[in-house]
Amino acid sequence: VSVALLQALAAQGRLYPAVILHGGSTEARQEAAVELARTLLCDAPAERRPCGQCRHCRRITWPQAPASRSEPPAFHPDFTVLLRDLKTVTSVGAARELLATAQLSPFEARGQVFVVADAQSLSPEASNALLKTLEEPHESAPRHFLLLVPSRHDLLPTLRSRALSLFLGPAEPLTADEVRPLAEAFGGAVSRWAATGAAIYLLVAAQALAQARGFEDPRAGRPWALAARAVLEAGSGDGTAPPLRRALLALAEDLLEGPALRLRGIPERRILEGLVARRLAEVRG
Ligand SMILES: [Zn+2]
Repeated sequence: VSVALLQALAAQGRLYPAVILHGGSTEARQEAAVELARTLLCDAPAERRPCGQCRHCRRITWPQAPASRSEPPAFHPDFTVLLRDLKTVTSVGAARELLATAQLSPFEARGQVFVVADAQSLSPEASNALLKTLEEPHESAPRHFLLLVPSRHDLLPTLRSRALSLFLGPAEPLTADEVRPLAEAFGGAVSRWAATGAAIYLLVAAQALAQARGFEDPRAGRPWALAARAVLEAGSGDGTAPPLRRALLALAEDLLEGPALRLRGIPERRILEGLVARRLAEVRG
């Protein structure tokens, strides 16, 4: 699933009721949530959503901390953000308050959008309350939940299975100059593999990713983020067939779990070979 696809579904009013926005930086997740909410509630004709100018688009913004406000906060009654209310937890009390609003009809727009800002911090009770709401049939106006989380693995499996996931890529800031050579070497090997089916090219592809700098430190997340970004870039060309594109997206997400495997004592080369082979094997069946 790509951002563009989600935007298109949202503009046509066909977006899944629950969407997980995971990966990326906190800001990237917030931006994606605001953009999707505007698309869902915008007044403009479908092909121009979000217009950025209508009475809905203009008032849907991420809530600012009171201290950093320079002007009165924008407010839209049908766009609600649930922020973490306790130190490390989003409590069931706060979640229930949000869910009570979800039982009402929209005030102004054609639907409602609810955002959970730190979905990984939902208490188990809060997660279950949310899950129950997602399971209820909802017949009146469309109601959308956007769950923002660094890794979707931090959510309950039951919640994951009820939502569409959009991966926003690795969080680390990476430069195009670092990513490009890896993406080219990896992409070249994958093309040769796709054309010939020869497994040796999967090893070459994994070796290309192993060229990311910084693997000496087993705790470092950056080389894995670099490898993930290179994989995403290699799969982003128009010529990439959809099944291969999906496999590369899944591989990029797997790569971000690399440090956890490294800390179990597995050398990075073996992790890379294993992940590449596993995800790409799914493409050829
Ligand atoms: Zn608009």
